[in-house]
Amino acid sequence: MTFLIDWLVTLKCNYDCAYCGIGPSGHDNSKPHPDYDKCVKMVSQMYAYCDLVLAKKKLVFKDAIMNIYGGESIHHPDIVKLIKKTSELYQPYKNNWRLKRRMTTNGTATEKKWEVLCQHVEGFTMSYHSTGPTKLKNMFKRNLKYLNSIGKEHDVIVCMYPSKDYWKDCVSFLHWAKKQGINARPKMLDGPLGVYKKEHLKDLEDFIDSKELAHWDVSVTAEVQGRGCCGGRRMCFDRNIKQHQFIVPRGPNGFLGWHCSANQFFLHGNTSTGLYYTNKDCKVRLDGKTGPIANLHTMGDYIKSLAEKPQLPTLICAQKTCTCGTCAPKSIHKENLTEILKIYNDPSLVGNV
Ligand code: SF4
Ligand code: SF4
Repeated sequence: MTFLIDWLVTLKCNYDCAYCGIGPSGHDNSKPHPDYDKCVKMVSQMYAYCDLVLAKKKLVFKDAIMNIYGGESIHHPDIVKLIKKTSELYQPYKNNWRLKRRMTTNGTATEKKWEVLCQHVEGFTMSYHSTGPTKLKNMFKRNLKYLNSIGKEHDVIVCMYPSKDYWKDCVSFLHWAKKQGINARPKMLDGPLGVYKKEHLKDLEDFIDSKELAHWDVSVTAEVQGRGCCGGRRMCFDRNIKQHQFIVPRGPNGFLGWHCSANQFFLHGNTSTGLYYTNKDCKVRLDGKTGPIANLHTMGDYIKSLAEKPQLPTLICAQKTCTCGTCAPKSIHKENLTEILKIYNDPSLVGNV
């Protein structure tokens, strides 16, 4: 498992998709873009926290992925300067751990801006939104072709909006991508708009494995039909590494009361609010309560206090819903979690987590 630095750059977006919530899990055009200095401070602190955590890991696990997103991060007026800064700020750490930046974007940058971003960002998750104007959708296609032409790592997600004309546009985009040799993945919408008819499923037969659609229930929304890890990864549980599943079982109270190592694998920073959380869905803190772990003013001291501890602490889960964070090693018994963490942490530092 890698360490995820999850950086929400701005809540503003140049789109206003009907299926996108207002707030940190979507976008909010009423909020101003955070200024450049605030963004730089957040990146510096996130790198410092990451350095502290990765110092305890075995060499093979000294990897960080920085997810750069919004709203729409490219919409931030200083995005080019900021992305260049993420390269500069990484320099003191480059011999300590490996960094891969990954931008999650609607791909609507000018050619010039896109080329510079591609020089600094190691990979992109491109999401296609049928609700945008033709001009921006053409920009998306051009930028996607550019990624393909330079061999830049990328995933393509098509947000399948079931409303009539938008649906047609999504399907037509999927066909376009297929013709270009681009692997685009349809994504069923979460929320009340994500109800699909049989005809919709038929249209997707060329793009989704028929086994995945065989048990689809057209009477309910996509989200109540269960979801796997956000990255689509399979996971093992009960330490049975031979069996991997998309959906990890849990009781009605999630993992409430379990010992969990999410703080050793995630850090979420929201530049708009200046707040840090364990991750975007996990609000559990070291004191066993829920809420932000620090803000831009207190993060320096928070990092210092962790550095003074002989070992990295773990969390006791205090929330009933666990979504992003499901993959972080966890156990009802602390001693089991300590054992599991020996897989990741430097043996000379294990025994006291
Ligand atoms: S492009 Fe993405 S962030 Fe922007 S409104 Fe649409 S779903 Fe939300
Ligand atoms: S919500 Fe999930 S990730 Fe967070 S502490 Fe609980 S079990 Fe761990």
